[in-house]
Amino acid sequence: MILQEERELVVEYGIKMCELGLTSGTFGNVSVYNPDRGLMAICPSGMDYYRILPEDVVVLTPDGEKVDGTAKPSSEYDLHRIFYQMRPGITGVIHTHSIFATTCACMHWSIEPVHYNIAYSGHDVPCIPFVRPGTYELAQTVFDAMGDDRFACLLGNHGLLTVGADIAYALDVAEQIEYVAHLYYNTRLAGGGKNLAPEQVQPFVDAYPSYRKK
Ligand SMILES: [Zn+2]
Repeated sequence: MILQEERELVVEYGIKMCELGLTSGTFGNVSVYNPDRGLMAICPSGMDYYRILPEDVVVLTPDGEKVDGTAKPSSEYDLHRIFYQMRPGITGVIHTHSIFATTCACMHWSIEPVHYNIAYSGHDVPCIPFVRPGTYELAQTVFDAMGDDRFACLLGNHGLLTVGADIAYALDVAEQIEYVAHLYYNTRLAGGGKNLAPEQVQPFVDAYPSYRKK
């Protein structure tokens, strides 16, 4: 089976995403890229994460052409492949509908640096307007909002997208940005938190992305 290791990671991290309470049902999606082979493994469309087998995971080129797998790839595959095409060093992408990140996305609130764990993404987490799910336009808008150094983006009225040098870091970002989104929501309800200054966040921006590098 080609891309066996990456397919197994997709299965493993789909379950981890559910166990962390970052998504519900079949929503959200996970992919892993092998830069040496120039191929990505992505979860199948509409399948329960606890039932996915490695052979159900679909293998695509970064251009979106199917190479292996009988299932249909996740409808959001453009959201994943654009990072493998355009951002060297990214080999893991996760998309969730976690509650507080999605609450902020429904408010069109970019997340401000109320806690230093924002640095898992960068100095903030931008929020794009609503763009129809499953379209290349959504992928391009998210990619443009993240630039070449952010690791997370809120999708207006939809959810959260995170990336990493490996899939473990992408999951860490999804978990930590959900945490910061929860704090940000609480502070806004309480009248507004005190933002950290860029120089207070920068040491963590420098440190965090190396935490999970292989
Ligand atoms: Zn979604």
